[in-house]
Amino acid sequence: MSFENTAAQGESTLGSGITISGLSKVFKLGNSTITALEDTTLHSDKGSFLSLLGPSGCGKSTILRILAGLEIPTAGSVTVDGMDPSELRRDHRLGIAFQDSALMPWRSVVANIRLPFELARVSPDESLISDLIKLVGLQGFENAKPAQLSGGMKQRVSIARALVVQPSVLLLDEPFGALDDMTRQRLNLELLRIWTEKPATTLMVTHGISEAIFLSDQVAVMSPRPGRIKEIIEVDLPRPRTPEMMRTPEFHALHDHASDLLFGGNGAAVGDE
Ligand code: ADP
Ligand code: MG
Repeated sequence: MSFENTAAQGESTLGSGITISGLSKVFKLGNSTITALEDTTLHSDKGSFLSLLGPSGCGKSTILRILAGLEIPTAGSVTVDGMDPSELRRDHRLGIAFQDSALMPWRSVVANIRLPFELARVSPDESLISDLIKLVGLQGFENAKPAQLSGGMKQRVSIARALVVQPSVLLLDEPFGALDDMTRQRLNLELLRIWTEKPATTLMVTHGISEAIFLSDQVAVMSPRPGRIKEIIEVDLPRPRTPEMMRTPEFHALHDHASDLLFGGNGAAVGDE
């Protein structure tokens, strides 16, 4: 097994991208049950950027965890390029980064990024690792330990680690959610640049309207729990995207539309903006 074949396999357009069909998830807690997701259906094309936008607790992370093979759906199915999550995991085609960077504290930056190779028992591609370190702007910090890094830098390491497997799907769960607004905006720009250089089918969970629109080809707006897709907003802003676009009438129209869907037009506070 090698990471090399990741790009070559499953390239047929049939079933390519992320397909979520009739997905439901019920959690059992003692005698009671929580319906986290109900009949969620969604598709995103290979190589596109999709955001899941919704209030807290509507099942966004549950969708991601099902795609990552960390939860089993109660009903329905998910596939990426026609493969189910267990096959993706087996072939190391998944890149995942969560809000909490989940780095190993005793390992250096480079050793954290190298970890997926060790897990797959593949000899590390050191030139790819050093390319990625450059791509996420961490040159000079290769040997630093996580405790010596800022929150933003830790998230950069976590994104580099997600990309090192050259994933066919990149799953990001509020990757910058724990950071201050300025750092978050800067890292969103970085993420856009990284995604443009290394386009993977990306699904990002967020509760930030602006970042979802700014980054995505499609924004799936979810209802409160039990989560369902309320509407899929097609973001037809041209690429490459620049921060100036956030001040255009087109951007504002998309933002207002997403905001109406989330808050029902009455301004009730559900999200962060
Ligand atoms: P979001 O990411 O949109 O904030 P989650 O997907 O984390 O929401 O959770 C959706 C709902 O499912 C929440 O009500 C949450 O409490 C519940 N939930 C998530 N994971 C579990 C679990 N392992 N056991 C029980 N309930 C869970
Ligand atoms: Mg979540």
